[in-house]
Amino acid sequence: MAKVKIAINGYGTIGKRVADAINMQPDMEVVGVTKTKPDFDAKMAVKKGYKLYAAIPERVKVFEEAGIPVEGTIEDLLQDVDLVVDASPNKVGAQNKPLYEKLGVKAIFQGGEKKDVAEVSFNAIANFEKAIGKQFVRVVSCNTTGLTRLIYTIKKNYPIKKVRATMIRRVVDPKEDKKGLVNGIEPNPIKLPSHHGPDVQSVLPDVNIVTTAFKVPTTLMHVHSVSIELQDPVSEDDVLKALSEEPRIMLINSADGFTSTTRIVEFSRELRLRYDLYENAVWADSIGIVDGELYVTQAINQESIVVPENIDAIRAMLELKDKEESIKETNKNLKIGI
Ligand code: NAD
Repeated sequence: MAKVKIAINGYGTIGKRVADAINMQPDMEVVGVTKTKPDFDAKMAVKKGYKLYAAIPERVKVFEEAGIPVEGTIEDLLQDVDLVVDASPNKVGAQNKPLYEKLGVKAIFQGGEKKDVAEVSFNAIANFEKAIGKQFVRVVSCNTTGLTRLIYTIKKNYPIKKVRATMIRRVVDPKEDKKGLVNGIEPNPIKLPSHHGPDVQSVLPDVNIVTTAFKVPTTLMHVHSVSIELQDPVSEDDVLKALSEEPRIMLINSADGFTSTTRIVEFSRELRLRYDLYENAVWADSIGIVDGELYVTQAINQESIVVPENIDAIRAMLELKDKEESIKETNKNLKIGI
């Protein structure tokens, strides 16, 4: 069967990871990626064999002057694609949407966009079916993906009354050298609760969830401290069993040396390209039940957790496979849960 043709608009932190993951699937291929400037990322994209296009048409000349000519503009790229993954910076996806509408191209947006940019806010294990055949889908942010996976996995097995979660957020991604937080803890937002609760509800509308969040001076991963009030008595072993059955959740233990996000990243450096960790890393030995309330701590690699979700969203929107088949295929090709 011919592979479906996918464009990446915005070859940055998320875009380059999704591009590589697409080319690891047998049923889809990247036909071009866009950049706004001829920087090292653009040069690396060409070196890796991606066809490069200018995200902003007026910049074609800038690429030519830098000695890396582009194949054309984003509009040229979109002439012959089945779907575009928009991985442009926060809020820029919404500005790109009219072009996708004009050309009748299906598009996936990322979590930096407001939920109304798309018909569906997506997480593969929680609501794959909602994205089937849709034109516009938003893959929710890294924190929301991590929370949604965990809550959905518990909820699927044990009914829950409410969720309260605190997110300890990496301040910026490792590549950032223009902003950050050198020595402080920043309540973010100061006015509570944070937006993550409503964002989880954009995927799981019936979950009672309230969240708070703090930025801390690290670039590696987020950490979530989650408490879930359960409807019925559940044991710690029940919870461990439920989590161990979900491939997109990786159970880790302090006894193996996983004492911080630094250690998880060191482990991931051996495991994957760019130390990408597509799974929630849940500390098995954090799990505790007190008065019918489950306490659990997890770590999320912000740069890579949404990658498998983008792949499954492509399959749902283009109706390539059903939920179970798609997730299985993605997990196999990205070596998730093996
Ligand atoms: P990034 O800044 O690393 O990459 C964005 C890319 O888009 C850059 O290559 C930039 O040149 C390009 N770009 C700029 N203007 C553009 C335009 N007008 N059209 C097309 N491309 C343009 O950003 P990122 O971290 O990859 O974030 C992309 C999206 O993914 C955002 O919505 C963000 O919220 C979301 N997201 C980011 C993370 C993360 O931790 N980095 C995690 C989950 C979701």
